[in-house]
Amino acid sequence: MNTALLSAIVNSEELPSIPAVALKVIELCREDDIDIQDVADAISTDPALTVRMLKSANSSIFGMSKTVSSLSQAMVVLGIRTVKVMALGFALADTVKGGKKSGFDYPKYWRRSLTTAVAARQLAEEFGGVRKDEAFVAGLLSDIGMIAIQQHCEAEYGEVVRRCSQNQERVHEVEQEILEITHADVSAMMMANWSMPEAMCHAIRAHHGNGIDELDQRAKAVGTILNAASEIASLFSGDIDPAKSEDIFSEVISKTGISHEYLESVMVVLNENVSEAAEMFSVDLGQEISYDQLRQSAMTQLTHLSMSAERERKSAEDQMESLRHKAETDRLTGIANRQAFDDHIAESVKNATEQRREMGLIMMDIDHFKKLNDTYGHQAGDEALRRVGACVDKFAKGSQFVARYGGEEFAIIAAESTARKLRELAEELREGISKIRFQHNGTPLQFTASLGAAHVDFTEESVDVVELIRRADECLYEAKQDGRNCVAITF
Ligand code: GH3
Ligand code: MG
Ligand code: MG
Repeated sequence: MNTALLSAIVNSEELPSIPAVALKVIELCREDDIDIQDVADAISTDPALTVRMLKSANSSIFGMSKTVSSLSQAMVVLGIRTVKVMALGFALADTVKGGKKSGFDYPKYWRRSLTTAVAARQLAEEFGGVRKDEAFVAGLLSDIGMIAIQQHCEAEYGEVVRRCSQNQERVHEVEQEILEITHADVSAMMMANWSMPEAMCHAIRAHHGNGIDELDQRAKAVGTILNAASEIASLFSGDIDPAKSEDIFSEVISKTGISHEYLESVMVVLNENVSEAAEMFSVDLGQEISYDQLRQSAMTQLTHLSMSAERERKSAEDQMESLRHKAETDRLTGIANRQAFDDHIAESVKNATEQRREMGLIMMDIDHFKKLNDTYGHQAGDEALRRVGACVDKFAKGSQFVARYGGEEFAIIAAESTARKLRELAEELREGISKIRFQHNGTPLQFTASLGAAHVDFTEESVDVVELIRRADECLYEAKQDGRNCVAITF
């Protein structure tokens, strides 16, 4: 931290000065034995301050009915601490109104400070352990350091303001980067100079969340509320992207432990209360952001998020599907491979067993394929395999499943097929293969295949996968023995 700069700012002559009457009120309130009448007398020397005090006592922010008409009554209603706080607040409001120095946005400053103050007060009401007036004043004053810094280091602060409004960077982070101090440090030191309670000074120093955990219990409670209120205020003054409002609200709930319903009820009336406070302090708030706008933004953001989550999910699914397809497909023929066949036959046998149905398996092997390879070359063999794949694929319909079992051997699983249908299918396949014609290097090629088919009726017997394949293989061997280009079936 740049401590030299910090003390230069805090001890600067340019600091907002507190009018005499406010100082007098603060002074009187500090005494152990406070005489309310003395305080009322001091305030009454300033008619404007008197009116404001009465307004405050009747304000709905403090939860009063509009019946307070005398200053001493107002003192009782508000409580002496609030009176002190308000006197100070009013005094500050009057000194800190001025023009547009280094692009510093005073209406925005007030919007943020009053929103922090009102929100902090409301949160304290539910949070417990923190006095409402203390929360209000801590909120009101937590950003006062900004004024002091920008009066002392106009050029640098101009840069801070510019970066924050252009890039939506967080003020305290940019201050730290450029000046090596933050407005929270300055505010806290100013509070200490004004003899504000120690816990409040510590809480204000930590109001952006840094170092909050190291605070003692009381300061930590105030700091937690202040931090939550300050985040809410940053949303309502446009320092945080409204799209992040759901995140901010969730964080507020988890840090303070207040209920979602309570926060909602505070947010709904926040702008109204802030406007009332602004009237009390006679400050301009500039353009406000409504809770509805925040919710709208959050909703849009949520929709975007769920849409992109959906897209990601879809693309992950597509990738999985593509990988799965790749893993189960034979590269040469494009039909299912051995892996897929193993899975499918296991499933088919299981279903047929459970549901006591019929099923068939055909094993088909190209005849004298080695010779075709040897005579015309491996490329010709490959082309033949591709054509056989396309042919079996064409003949297999509905629940029938075709795969390249390996080498020049193909398998067809026919679920729910009768023995007659299975034989017909095998015959169709045999004939289909025998009709394949293609040219290789000008030579017309043709070939045949042998097929073994096994049919099982699971109402009569139960067989496992190994046995089913063994039976089909046996038939295939038989077909080869019978002279090839033929079908052998067992049932
Ligand atoms: P049979 O009628 O008794 O089945 O005789 P065959 O020559 O078809 O049987 P064999 O098992 O002796 O030969 C199979 C041949 O299939 C040998 C092997 O090189 C060939 N082969 C296996 N996979 C491929 C492949 O992917 N591409 C090509 N071109 N040939 C393959
Ligand atoms: Mg701040
Ligand atoms: Mg063969």
